[in-house]
Amino acid sequence: MNLQYVEEPQERGPIPPAPPETRILAVANQKGGVGKTTTTVNLATALAACGKRVLIVDMDPQGNASTGLGVSPEKRSQGVYQVLIQGLPVAIAEAATLVPGMAIIPSGVDLSGAELELISVDRREYRLRDAVEQVRGRYDFVLIDCPPALGLLTLNALVGADAVLVPLQAEFYALEGLSHLMRTIERVQRALNPKLVLQGVVLTMFDRRNNLCEMVAADVRGHLGERVYRTVIPRNVRVSEAPSHGKPVLLYDLRCAGSQAYVRLAREILQREDGLAGRPAMAS
Ligand code: ADP
Ligand code: MG
Repeated sequence: MNLQYVEEPQERGPIPPAPPETRILAVANQKGGVGKTTTTVNLATALAACGKRVLIVDMDPQGNASTGLGVSPEKRSQGVYQVLIQGLPVAIAEAATLVPGMAIIPSGVDLSGAELELISVDRREYRLRDAVEQVRGRYDFVLIDCPPALGLLTLNALVGADAVLVPLQAEFYALEGLSHLMRTIERVQRALNPKLVLQGVVLTMFDRRNNLCEMVAADVRGHLGERVYRTVIPRNVRVSEAPSHGKPVLLYDLRCAGSQAYVRLAREILQREDGLAGRPAMAS
């Protein structure tokens, strides 16, 4: 009797899930005040609440994501600047947050010098990519909060990312700004990062009573179709209050309309990721 043949099927457990893949998203829009930082912090929190391991990279010298998450000043002296310019290992720069499963590489005032200092360093466009490669597999998502400009810091984010998530405020000049950003993404694709894609556009600070908001939204959906998320983030005062308490809005007031919208956005993104990867249903 061939024992091997008899035993084998009984010893096999369920098919193991595919190894985790890290999805690196640059949250970018060259315009300031459109909701990049708010979206980074709160989408990251909502993804962590869905059980994902998330790392935020605060690429903005203003450090709003770091402040909004209450990162201490000592931690901020070992952050993105030291990683990009001095080659500090990411594992040392990571700071824990109040949200379980979510960490941040903070930014401090020294990052404002990086835009100039990067010009003369080796592999200047690839510094962030080289750094985030150290965390592939350890996180499910890396969200990079970009500064409001298309300089070397944002370029590093676009080169290090797999996809770009664009927060867009529905206002008169929104489409012009968006087409400028799309051209930049195409140029980065051609020259530096062929795999870069547009992850999606999320409408922020949306006011349904404002006709202009609805008109701009219809226009953006007309141009980009499915790439615009169904979820829109409403203008909500709780969202703007939360950073002064050093917390994401989901921890400050989970029930408010802003928190609920970011939870829906996280679910929509996760559903699309599953659809894109065409992952089989888990065995058993
Ligand atoms: P960016 O990072 O693009 O400069 P922020 O995320 O810092 O933009 O947002 C700009 C301002 O708008 C901040 O004061 C923020 O608190 C506020 N804000 C962002 N999203 C909302 C929202 N959904 N409702 C109300 N205020 C918001
Ligand atoms: Mg910001």
